[in-house]
Amino acid sequence: MSLPTPDPDPARGAALLTFDREHLWHPYTSMTDPAPVRLVTGAEGVRLHLDDQVSTGSTTGKSVVDAMSSWWSAIHGYRVPELDAALADQAGRMAHVMFGGLTHAPAVELAERLVSITPDPLQHVFLADSGSVSVEVAIKMALQTQRGRGRPERTRLLTLRGGYHGDTFGCMSVCDPVGGMHSMFTEVLAPQVFAERPPAPGGDVEAWAEGVRRLAAENTDELAGIIVEPRLQGAGGMWVYDDRCLVVLREIADEHGLVLIFDEIATGLGRTGDLFVSSQVTPDILCLGKALTGGYLTLAAVLTTTEVAHAISRSESGVLMHGPTFMGNPLACAVALASLDLLAARGWEQDVRRVSSALTAGLSPLAGAPGVAAVRVLGAVGVVQLDHPVDGAKATDAALREGVWIRPFRDLIYTMPPYVTGEEDLARICRAVAAAAEVA
Ligand SMILES: *Cc1c(COP(=O)(O)O)cnc(C)c1O
Repeated sequence: MSLPTPDPDPARGAALLTFDREHLWHPYTSMTDPAPVRLVTGAEGVRLHLDDQVSTGSTTGKSVVDAMSSWWSAIHGYRVPELDAALADQAGRMAHVMFGGLTHAPAVELAERLVSITPDPLQHVFLADSGSVSVEVAIKMALQTQRGRGRPERTRLLTLRGGYHGDTFGCMSVCDPVGGMHSMFTEVLAPQVFAERPPAPGGDVEAWAEGVRRLAAENTDELAGIIVEPRLQGAGGMWVYDDRCLVVLREIADEHGLVLIFDEIATGLGRTGDLFVSSQVTPDILCLGKALTGGYLTLAAVLTTTEVAHAISRSESGVLMHGPTFMGNPLACAVALASLDLLAARGWEQDVRRVSSALTAGLSPLAGAPGVAAVRVLGAVGVVQLDHPVDGAKATDAALREGVWIRPFRDLIYTMPPYVTGEEDLARICRAVAAAAEVA
């Protein structure tokens, strides 16, 4: 692994950071009191190259293992030769053309692939440009499905506390009402129906199910669908729950004629040990994103059953009312195809199992440590929940000292490493999470 070369002009890095601080928003940050950011000069394998000259005065820069996979997307790591080649090849043909009235091989081949690797009933594909947009489209589809069935009054969604589905307004309305953004936007958010967070594996599914059944029955005339993150609620708190809860939701959806939406933007493509959780319980609509392009470009997909696709087409508009400018972007589709090829060729199952064992071995000793409330490992996800809010800056610095990049939130220090992370780097990640948990 080549070490990052320091910028020949160190003043340049400082100037970038200064402008950044004064003019550029980062996710969930303040313009008047911005949290510090670090300058990345490149990335390769599972490592990010940080320009530490700026922040620490070191003359070499620093390579750190990315335990976040760039927010759960870079499953193959960085500068992946196969993905670089797919991108360059497609760039040599066309970077983008509009999708209205035109089509192209990358989009069609990606749709074919997605239909073939997801459960059989999912046959129709909408290519969206980000996870949040795909959730908006899925919600719109559920409402249009009900209109197509002659039930236009069914416009609300049943969802779970503890969930996260994105940052746009429709998405916000189904995020956890306490931890999410409801308090600030209550007046403008669609009022949805919230069921309790499902119990952790081993918990009382029947008691939970009874509550959800009651809510569905009480609101049946107004409900269009159910939307959940199956098996793992991610950004809403890294909550794991039993697949039996999904069976219950499927039953409720069927009983009341609701459209069941699984948001697998985070769980899809192997992260929790199945290629899709949907292969255990099949939804009517499936959202994919994040890892779809191996972290290279923004792209999401919504898949639906034929029943849903036809009902939408029977609604009064006769069409699905959505079509973003960059729909089906050829570069993104080409790199997504290459990423799916690589996933199969490398044997993702074995990789995820290997990551899972290493995280279990490295993190389970933290259970019972001072300040640690719980340790959870599911597939290639490792979570250490503290009994207090994390001091993000302290935790991040402690991990960086171990050579690892993490991004804790709330009371959680967690890792979702690239599937290709090797044994030594996995051990390093666990040491870093432990160090972060100790100081945070
Ligand atoms: C990240 C995420 C989203 C939002 O995706 P963006 O690409 O950030 O818009 C939606 N749902 C889930 C479950 C996610 O993890």
